[in-house]
Amino acid sequence: METLEDLFEDTLRDILYAEKKILKALPKMARKASSPDLATAFKDHIADTEGQVDRLEKIFEMIGKSPRGKTCPAIDGMTEEASEIMQEAEDDTVRDAGMLAAAQAVEHYEISRYGTLAAWADKLGMPDAADLLRATLEEEKATDLKLTELALSEINVDADPPEMKAASKKTARR
Ligand code: FE
Ligand code: FE
Ligand code: FE
Repeated sequence: METLEDLFEDTLRDILYAEKKILKALPKMARKASSPDLATAFKDHIADTEGQVDRLEKIFEMIGKSPRGKTCPAIDGMTEEASEIMQEAEDDTVRDAGMLAAAQAVEHYEISRYGTLAAWADKLGMPDAADLLRATLEEEKATDLKLTELALSEINVDADPPEMKAASKKTARR
């Protein structure tokens, strides 16, 4: 890898692989979610992700390269962690909290990748590619925000251990 162009192309392949892996994981996570809002958030992001793959394919067309992904060990590790949590959680609300946290880790990875790629597209004088990358960046940020709101509203509150709930009640009574 000699030039920024090479690095740009390599990173596009990395995130293309990641998006396709996410596309496979999201339906499973939606099925396993016990909170209807969490299931909806996962399902909504499937359509986003399909559009994101399309955008990446357009960028490959712009640079005259075939849209082939390249193994991203980060997403492999994150999806592996997510499946472990789904299998090991013995309580629905704990599983929801674990899946939500896993999904946010993925969004943060994507936000970092797309932020970098958009900046490199600017540097390489590819404003159209930069626009496409920023459109996806905004979707990933919006998804992250939605997950944060869900975490604050119900998921993590429901997953409080009973002792903690009891303790906070005790404090409240005083
Ligand atoms: Fe994505
Ligand atoms: Fe990667
Ligand atoms: Fe995403």
